[in-house]
Amino acid sequence: MRTDMGQIVHLADYRPTDFVLERVDLTFELDPTNTKVEARLIFHRREGVDTALPLILDGDELSLSGLLLDQNALPADQYDATGDKLVVRGLPAETPFELTITTHINPEANTQLMGLYRTNGIYCTQCEAEGFRRITYFPDRPDVLAPYTITIIGDKAANPVMLSNGNFLGGAGYDEGRAFAAWFDPHPKPSYLFALVAGDLGVVEDMFETMSGRDVVLKIYVEHGKEKRAAYAMDALKRSMKWDEERFGREYDLNIFQIVAVSDFNMGAMENKGLNVFNDKFVLADPETATDQDYANIEAIIAHEYFHNWTGNRITCRDWFQLCLKEGLTVYRDHEFSADMRSRAVKRIAEVRRLKSDQFPEDAGPLAHPVRPTVYREINNFYTTTVYEKGSQK
Ligand SMILES: [Zn+2]
Repeated sequence: MRTDMGQIVHLADYRPTDFVLERVDLTFELDPTNTKVEARLIFHRREGVDTALPLILDGDELSLSGLLLDQNALPADQYDATGDKLVVRGLPAETPFELTITTHINPEANTQLMGLYRTNGIYCTQCEAEGFRRITYFPDRPDVLAPYTITIIGDKAANPVMLSNGNFLGGAGYDEGRAFAAWFDPHPKPSYLFALVAGDLGVVEDMFETMSGRDVVLKIYVEHGKEKRAAYAMDALKRSMKWDEERFGREYDLNIFQIVAVSDFNMGAMENKGLNVFNDKFVLADPETATDQDYANIEAIIAHEYFHNWTGNRITCRDWFQLCLKEGLTVYRDHEFSADMRSRAVKRIAEVRRLKSDQFPEDAGPLAHPVRPTVYREINNFYTTTVYEKGSQK
């Protein structure tokens, strides 16, 4: 359990971490109730930081099952591990060092749906804002960026699909009954953009040629039998990619872009780097029953999450006080996209009606807050109309 719940965070207290994270290498051995996570993290001490200071990593309901420093076991007096913190002392003053942290987690029992959980036989993650610390001990904050290598090992029959961020490195049989898949995301990212999905899913595939002539593989994963209903989402994705090139010169930066749509994802949609995860009601449309508004919503949400690839994922927030920097700006971008795709006047009228119905009451009530707050107790309470909609207005 988190003992720091309820602590107040002040913008004025910001300071960079004492240690710089250089690289992240994660190996998951999937098991519904006992998934093993091995995290190899390379750090160096920031210049000028007191060599006596320990490394302090965040956790949430974790228990440590192994800890190595440069491949050697650490003496018990050199670290303290609790559910919500790992403190390591006696680290090298100048040279980089590698910590290997092993944890075991229970995706089946994760009913918070933050971190790694399981739903309908599918492994899925949600890490924004502070879910990654439920997977392993980590400097779980937006200003700690590193490239990630991910290896997923899982039961072959149950997990024909094993996905993570970045480009696919390869996969094959691993041992009896199990297979592995490896992914590498070269673009340094904060932990809240990490994603892993594994299970048995159907897929719709397409291609997009970027403005510099690179081919990008596009895949939308859905529950079996729902593939046909993802056609409009795929079309909206290709138009989003093209529009961001033409309007803002932003070209996609990996060789694959994937969307996973599951029926019980409780966050709506999430912009994990190269691997967006959606509640499938924002992806699927049945031509027999979907209304014009349904199509407009799918188009806007697909676009919004795709546009985060630059505003949020490549251009990152320093801290959660800057949430509006990624959300307000990306909402502005998806509004512009919808205005260009459809009627600009109709889009603007819809925005103003939304401000009147949602923003004015929020501003007039006890939850009124600036688009960039200066203090919070729980960042999850700041995913508000003020941050998204007011923050998007020009
Ligand atoms: Zn967003």
